[in-house]
Amino acid sequence: MDFPVSIVKEKRKSLSIQFTQSGVFLIKAPYFLKQSFINDFLDEKKSWMSKTLDNFSAFSYLKTPNECVTDVELAYFGEKYSLSVFEKKSKEMPYFKDNRLCFFVDRLDEKESNIKKLILWYRHLAKEIFEDRVYFFANLLGVEVKTVRIKELKSRWGSCSTLGNINLNWKLIKAPFSVIDYVIAHECCHLLHMNHSYEFWDCVESVYPDYKKCKSWLNKYGHYMLF
Ligand SMILES: [Zn+2]
Repeated sequence: MDFPVSIVKEKRKSLSIQFTQSGVFLIKAPYFLKQSFINDFLDEKKSWMSKTLDNFSAFSYLKTPNECVTDVELAYFGEKYSLSVFEKKSKEMPYFKDNRLCFFVDRLDEKESNIKKLILWYRHLAKEIFEDRVYFFANLLGVEVKTVRIKELKSRWGSCSTLGNINLNWKLIKAPFSVIDYVIAHECCHLLHMNHSYEFWDCVESVYPDYKKCKSWLNKYGHYMLF
């Protein structure tokens, strides 16, 4: 099997391999290392590489689609859907049918604005649903939340400030509902404990007993959703 590999030579002592967000294995090698060494190294890594690639395609639906066209795969609350895009002059709300999301645009050929519209739809839903869950957990914990902002965060799912402002990554809408709840419970608990101490995790467990499963789901699949 041929793997998508990119080799970078630089000033370093050892070989390293890393799977990048674009689906390529990035190999960093010392300047004067012979190609045969690199080949042996890749040979050793073969089974890990093929497993990584398999997962990459199996969970690629968790990535954010970069075009809004029929048959593109997308995730919604952890489920995989395919998109059906229709041209419609009158305003029609998107809806789910079987395993498809039916989405309406003014013109099929307005590619740039159509993908923006799809992302906006995701963000609106995220705002509505996440806000609701924030107030649910804040209420359980007896903490006051000032504002909930839905943002596009590069590498995290949420953050919060001592002032009671909570930021949540809209891309979380692609995760199962239980995972969304875990992240929101996590951020709300930070309003009581601004750290990851034992007390903090006890607090998370008190409002979300099943949190460990969700935490490991995020560790396993979260990086796909950040794309
Ligand atoms: Zn935290």
